[in-house]
Order: sequence, then C-alpha cells, then structure tokens
Amino acid sequence: TFRILHGSREMALSLVDMAQQFGFIEDTLHVIAQPQTVRDAPQAQPLRAGEGRVEFRDVHFSYGDAREAVDGLTLSIPAGQKLGIVGPSGAGKSTLIHLLQRLYDVQQGEILIDGQAIRAVTQDSLRAALAVVPQEILLFHRSVRDNIRFARPDASEAELRAAAQAACCDGFIRHLPQGYDTLVGERGAKLSGGQRQRIGLARAFLKQAPIIILDEATSALDTESEIEVQRALVRMGRARTVISVAHRLSTLSSFDRVIVIQGGRIVEDGAPVLLRAQGGLFQRMWRLQAEGLSLEEVDCLSIIP
Ligand code: ATP
Repeated sequence: TFRILHGSREMALSLVDMAQQFGFIEDTLHVIAQPQTVRDAPQAQPLRAGEGRVEFRDVHFSYGDAREAVDGLTLSIPAGQKLGIVGPSGAGKSTLIHLLQRLYDVQQGEILIDGQAIRAVTQDSLRAALAVVPQEILLFHRSVRDNIRFARPDASEAELRAAAQAACCDGFIRHLPQGYDTLVGERGAKLSGGQRQRIGLARAFLKQAPIIILDEATSALDTESEIEVQRALVRMGRARTVISVAHRLSTLSSFDRVIVIQGGRIVEDGAPVLLRAQGGLFQRMWRLQAEGLSLEEVDCLSIIP
C-alpha cells in the first residue's frame, strides 16, 4: 500500500482508505441531493411529530405540463394505520409519497402531519419524522453494521439486531464472511438487490420515526419474504404509521387499508378483503395476479374493464 506521509506518521493515509472516504462522501452527497424546488419558509418551525397522522387536503400537483399528476386528492390516514397504495403505472403513487416528503411543493391544497402543514415546518424536522425506504438502496463502503446503524447512530447492538430480524436480513448477514462486520461494496460483499432492500428496511425499522414510507421497497424480495416484511410492519402496531406503494397485491393482505390510485385520484378505498370483492380495479388486478400474469401484463390488462 502506498502511504502519503504528511508531516508525521499519525497523519498518514493509505490511498485505499482515501478512496473509500471519497466513495463515502460521494454516496452521502447523493443521499442529500434532492430537487432544489423546495426551501424552508422564513418562519419555519420544527415539526412537533406526534403519533404520525397524515392528511392530504384537496392536493393538486403537476410536473409543469398540462396534466395533473395528483388531481384534487383528499386522504386522511389515522396514526398507526397500515396503508397500501396501488394502481397502474403512471397513476401518481410515487408522486404522492414524494409530495409527503416535500420533495416538491403542492400547487394547491395542503399536506399535514399531526395537524401541521409540511410547507410550514423545517425540512430537517420533516425528514426526521419519516423513515423512507426507496426501491434502490444506497449503501456505503462500510460494514453492514454501519450501513444499518446509519439510520440511528446511537442505537444499541440489541436494537440493531432486532431491526435486522424484522427486516429478514439477520440470517443472511450472519452467513457473510465477517457477519455484521463484513465490508459492503468493492472489497466486501456484493449484495443482491433483495439483500440491499432488506438492509434498507432494517434502517427504517431502526429509525424511530412515526411514519414509515415504502416505495416499491420490497419488489426485489420473493413473495414469501415480502409477506414476512409486511407482517413485521403490521406488528409494529399503533406506534408506526406505514404507507407502502406495492405492486404485488397479495403482500398487502394484512394491511388495514388500501387505496387504489388512477389518474392522480383515489378510485377505491377500503380494507383489502373488501376491495377484492368489490368488482373494481383492485379486484381485476388481484385476479390477474392470481392467474400468474407478470406485473407488466397485469398493469396493461387491469385498466381494461
Ligand atoms: P409507477 O407504478 O410506474 O412507478 P406511479 O403510479 O408511481 O407509476 P408516478 O411516478 O407518480 O406514477 O407518475 C405520475 C405521472 O407523473 C406520470 O404521468 C408520470 O409520467 C409523471 N411524472 C412522474 N415523475 C415525473 C417527473 N419527474 N417529471 C415529469 N413528469 C413526471
């Protein structure tokens, strides 16, 4: 290994370490990078997060073209509710959860968390109240443990293990060459898409946020693991509100409620078991999935009445 000696031996940095640090910084910047359309209001106050009640009040949003991606949507999610969002491709599911994170400001209407308009609170406090699991999980060139602990650096080892177990990743991590100390990335374990998603879920379980948002966050898992993760979410009970965008409908069976979005509006809303019997879009999608059609085929066929 080359060493750059800079004055004293203590300040020596190996080039490999430096490269890893740069990788880490680059990843961190990527995490921080968000659309720059949103700023803290001049009088922004920190969000006083409580139980995690969410409200969309007549929300309108478009990306700048004529079409409204969210078209007058009103939705009230009680604290602790486990809500699934489904609907065909382009319906506005991701847009809804991007608006809740305030990655964009709504053009009309309001979004509130525990009675406070998200437009009026600091973005730092809003981020602290939400545990977001995207489809693509960013991992740092660090140990698996550090990658999970990133969500809450002061978490105990026991809390970290409990989060990993709930996210169905404790088993595979313990089988890695150095277990939780295994380095992730080029010189460490190359993790599959499903394994990365489990680590992303463990982060969300570890973060003590009242609201957990999953955006296709379990799509790379096999159906059995996906159901297991959804059950773990349900077991969190009233302590956490969960909002999950999912394509595989069977994984939402244990959820309290599902809304079906089409054209930026809610077209169905109810318990999954009721929607399955209702003769609408959810039932059509459910039947096509049960017949074993691919998600793309279901997407295409379900919108034909
Ligand atoms: P999918 O299931 O395919 O992820 P979705 O239901 O999540 O779809 P959105 O991604 O919310 O749908 O998209 C809603 C509408 O907004 C679509 O018409 C889409 O083309 C458009 N849209 C989404 N993101 C952008 C963007 N960044 N810029 C412009 N239009 C966008």
